[in-house]
Amino acid sequence: MEIRYLSYDAKTVAGLRSGGPDAYGMPAERVVSDGQGNPCRCCLHDVPKGVEMLICAAMPFPSVQPYAETGPVFLCAENCEPWDGQGVPPVLTSSPEYLLKAYNADHRIIYGTGKITQAGELADYAVGLLAREGVAFVDVRSARNNCFQTRIVAA
Ligand SMILES: [Zn+2]
Repeated sequence: MEIRYLSYDAKTVAGLRSGGPDAYGMPAERVVSDGQGNPCRCCLHDVPKGVEMLICAAMPFPSVQPYAETGPVFLCAENCEPWDGQGVPPVLTSSPEYLLKAYNADHRIIYGTGKITQAGELADYAVGLLAREGVAFVDVRSARNNCFQTRIVAA
């Protein structure tokens, strides 16, 4: 099975860059990246040291419901090239492990699928989940801080 790693919703990213509200109704904070573990959810590269970035609350789901977790994410403050979906993005190589969870088409967690996964086994675990009946997508989160990183779908 081929899989794709999704860049964060382009319309949401554009709105945040232009000063629009985040998931908590606040404008994004603007800071300068220290170059250490600041993954941009659009290009899926770390924001380089010295480059301005946004910190905002993100809810990577279409509507508010009990499973629509909201948390902090970073974005390049200036326009960047959204990840094209091919191959494991750089932001998923900076930590030894990640939290993966499968969701159904109603954006609800499928219990029993959540697992701290070694970085090198991440793609294989995602493929296994996506092959299961009822799995619509797999979210990748920080195993340390639970921040949303990216979403994996069947290509
Ligand atoms: Zn970026």
